[in-house]
Amino acid sequence: MAFQSEVYKELLKEWSAVKVTLVAVSKTKPIEDLMEAYREGVRDFGENYVQELTDKQVKLPKDIRWHFIGHLQSNKVKYIAPFVHLIHGIDSKKLLVEINKEGKKNNRIINCLLQVHIAEEESKFGFDEDELMDLIYDIANPTSTLENIRICGLMGMASFTDNINEVSNEFKSLRLLFDKIKSIKSPNLDFTVLSMGMSNDYPTAIQAGSNMVRIGSKLFGSRG
Ligand SMILES: *Cc1c(COP(=O)(O)O)cnc(C)c1O
Repeated sequence: MAFQSEVYKELLKEWSAVKVTLVAVSKTKPIEDLMEAYREGVRDFGENYVQELTDKQVKLPKDIRWHFIGHLQSNKVKYIAPFVHLIHGIDSKKLLVEINKEGKKNNRIINCLLQVHIAEEESKFGFDEDELMDLIYDIANPTSTLENIRICGLMGMASFTDNINEVSNEFKSLRLLFDKIKSIKSPNLDFTVLSMGMSNDYPTAIQAGSNMVRIGSKLFGSRG
C-alpha cells in the first residue's frame, strides 16, 4: 500500500485548530513511498533503525527533518549525529553523554526527548518519574557539561489496549510531568515538545496535550 495522501490531508484538517506536528513513521517502507509523502508536503519522517535511516537520508531531499524514534544503542549514535533532527527515545544518562560527545564532534547541538515509562506494561523502555527528575536536575545543574544536547521535551508510549481510560490516564501523567519540568530554567532544557500518540491512540494523546504524534500504519499501510 502506498502513502495515503487523503488520510494525511484529513489529519491536517483535523488539527488545523491545534498545533500538532505530524511525524510520518516510515520504517520498513520503500523510498518511493517516502518520496510520495514528501511531494504531498511531509517534511518530518520517523525511523526506528539506524542503518535504514542513514540509507534513506543519503537518497532523499536534504530539507527532510529526520526523527529517530527507535531504541538507540550508544555505539550507533555516531552514524546519525551529523544530521538527525530529533532523537525521541533517550532512556539512559549514558546515551545522553554519548549523544553530547557526538554533537561536539559534529559541531552541533542535538535535540533530544527523554522517554518516560508511562505504560502499565512492563516491556516498554523509559525512565520512571524519580529517575527522570534526578536526570533533569543533573542536566539543569550549572556545572553540567552536556553543552551539545538540547532536551526539548518528553516522549511516551501508552499501553496497547482498547481501554481508553487507561490510555488517557497514561498520557495525562506524561502531560503533568511535562508541565512540571517546563518551568525549570536551564540553558540545555527547552521544553516545547510532548511526543505521544500513534495510529491507534493519537486522538486520546492530543486530547491529553500532545503536540507531536508519530503516525505510521495509518499513513503508509500496515507493515505486514
Ligand atoms: C512504529 C512506531 C510508531 C508508529 O506506529 P503506528 O502504529 O504504525 O502508527 C510510533 N512510535 C514508535 C516509537 C514506533 O516504534
